[in-house]
Parts: sequence; C-alpha cells; structure tokens
Amino acid sequence: MRSKRPAILIVIDGLTPSTFENAVGDRSAPTLSALADAGSYRRAVTTFPSLTPVCLTSIATGAHPDVHHIPHLVWWHRDERRVVEYGSSFGAIRAAGTRRSIRDTIVGMNRDHLAKDAETIYEAGERAGLTVAAVNITCYRGPHRYVPTVPGFAPATFGPRRFFFYNLYESDPIGAPLAVRNRSGGSVDEYAAAAARWLVTRDGFDLLVYYLSDLDFASHLHGPDDVREQLVKTDGSVRVLVDAAGGLDSFVERYSVLVCSDHGQTHVRDAVRLEEHVHAPAIVTASNRAGMIYTDEPRVAAASLDAVEAVDAVFFVEGGAVVARKDGDDDAAILDAYPLGRERVEAALRNPNAGEVLVSAAPGWELADLAGMHHAGGGSHGSLTAGDSEVPMLGVGIEPPARTIDVKNALLAAVS
Ligand SMILES: [Zn+2]
Repeated sequence: MRSKRPAILIVIDGLTPSTFENAVGDRSAPTLSALADAGSYRRAVTTFPSLTPVCLTSIATGAHPDVHHIPHLVWWHRDERRVVEYGSSFGAIRAAGTRRSIRDTIVGMNRDHLAKDAETIYEAGERAGLTVAAVNITCYRGPHRYVPTVPGFAPATFGPRRFFFYNLYESDPIGAPLAVRNRSGGSVDEYAAAAARWLVTRDGFDLLVYYLSDLDFASHLHGPDDVREQLVKTDGSVRVLVDAAGGLDSFVERYSVLVCSDHGQTHVRDAVRLEEHVHAPAIVTASNRAGMIYTDEPRVAAASLDAVEAVDAVFFVEGGAVVARKDGDDDAAILDAYPLGRERVEAALRNPNAGEVLVSAAPGWELADLAGMHHAGGGSHGSLTAGDSEVPMLGVGIEPPARTIDVKNALLAAVS
C-alpha cells in the first residue's frame, strides 16, 4: 500500500522570480498566490545555457548538460555534420530545414539526442512502479510507445504511461481541439489545461509534470515586466487543476506540488550576428543570449570576441582546465560572479554536443539566430547572468530545492 500523496510539478516557461513575487504580493495571480500562502518559496538556479530545451531536459533528468547532452536551442551535430535547430524562430526553422527541425524538436531530441544513460523522471518513476504523466514538456522520454494522432506527421515516440504532447501524441483520448497553430491566442496552454483537467479528475497519476509555455512567448514579445495579462491566463491554467480537485484545500491535501520556471528572462534592446565577429575557422550556432563556437582553435575564436560589446564572457577548455575570459583577460575568478557559475560552465563545456567555446551575452544584448531573428525591444534569456538564470521555486508539501536539477529527486522522494 502506498501511503504518500501523488505529486504535481508545474513548470511555467520564462517566469522570472520578480514577476512571480510581485504577482503573489499584489495577488494579481490568485491561484499562485493561494498556493504560495500554503507553501514555502525561494529563488533557485537553472542550468546553462539557460534555454528551454536545455533547461527542461535538466529538470526532467535531474542533471546538467554534461549528463543529458542537450546543449542549446541550435547546435552542430558532429556525427551527422548538420545543424540541429529546435525552434529559435520560424525563420530559423526554415533555414535549418522545416521538416527536419520539426522532427528534431518533436522526436529527435528525446529519441536520438538525449543521452541514453541519462535517466528521466518518467523512466525512474515507472521503474519504481508509479504511474507518471507528462503534459506538453519537451523532455518526455519514457517506456511506452506512441504513434502520432496525425498519421505520417512524425515517427512513433516513447513517453510515460500518461502522455499528452500538443495533442500530437496522446495516451488517452481526451477530446481537446488541436491548438498549436494559434499560439498567440494562448491555446497551447488551453490544450495542456484540458489534459491536466482530465488527469486530475480521474486521479490518473502518481506524478504529473505539467508544462505551460505561453508565458515565455509573451515575455519575449513584451519583455519580462510586461506579462501581467498572460500571467493571469497562466494562473487560470493552474486554477484548472485546483478546480478539478475540488478547490484549493482538497488540492493541497491530495497532492504535493512544486511550481517553478525553467529559466528567467531579461530585457534586450540590441542584437548582433555572432558569426560576423568570430575570426577563426569555425561553425557558430547562436540564438537568444547564448552562442557556441565549434572550432579547432578555441583560444583564437574566444579572443576574437574580446572587444565585442554584445559578449559578456566566453568559456573554453585548455589543457583540461576551464578558461573564463572577459574583457580580454583570462580570469577564472569571474565564474564566481554568476549563480553557480563554476558548476554550470564546467557542465556545459563537458557536454560532447557543445561547441568548444561557449558565449554568454552581455546584459541587454541578444545573438541573432540562423535567420537573423531576435527579440530586441522585448525579453530573452540563455546567458549565465542571474537575470536569465534565476527561477521562482515554490513548494507545497515539498521543500523547494535550490537548483532545478534537484527537482527530479525532490519529486521522486515525495511520492515513493
Ligand atoms: Zn524563451
């Protein structure tokens, strides 16, 4: 007999700590405020590069990229000699090959790119005999095979026992309409909410990972301090769970809950094309506020960025040691100026899919993607700085962990 309560992880993409704290402070997000009243809160730190595919994979595997091998939104696949692009922008997807990019994002990331010996929370949970559910999160690898609801659109994939992915893959027919095409209308989260309502109504899981993506989209567009309208909608997508459980008291009685985001966001006012500034034989992949340089000459490539205003710091390995370079000097001490700087840079560099040089953008700057697209005038993330790296972390019935890579074990300990 199991005595422990099921647990729910709610990941709100791109929600910054200050936006969360302000909304709880003035109760403009009523459901999140009520959960905050019932739980305990802290700021936590995500992984680096602080970009969604990397960050969600770190949450789901409980590890940095040295273990899970997802390096960036866009990267160079050394074995296949091609760029992998997970969706920096529609233009970048077109530039990398639309069909290929969609497959990489939907299936390849989990089936081919995610390290085989990294263990997802879904694999760990199901091995322990739990029923695990995932809604819309991009890192979903589990033991059960699924064919797409739209035949031929994508290959079969493997997810947890309860699996709902932009209604392209569904473990159970829930009758929610397809909504991916009208993203700005907030309908991606409406689909997620329909799936989560179905799960809570049936009490159909021991562990649920519920991912809400629309807030990040709004924050890129308007900037991180201008997402109030979307946050009210996102709060409504959380309220759906609470209502399905019969109100807040029974919700927190029935479930242990963690609420966090995958990364922060900061304002950006300018953008550069990183590849125009790298003076070494290299392949450069850049998007949002992080870049990678694949080169046999890391020091030359790194030094060519010394005077580039858009670059805050660059990192590479030389003689087995991590070199951190800023304003033209090697200085490992600068790593301590960032949240968990040493740990996160070292792990990012030790990822076999990462470039030899990692680039963290300066405050206010973005590195344009393959199509030259950027979010100047809005918000972005990806760098090692606190604004991109810190996330809100709220626990109800679970002690909120200090790092997003500790979320997996905190949840597994809560339910088993
Ligand atoms: Zn984003």
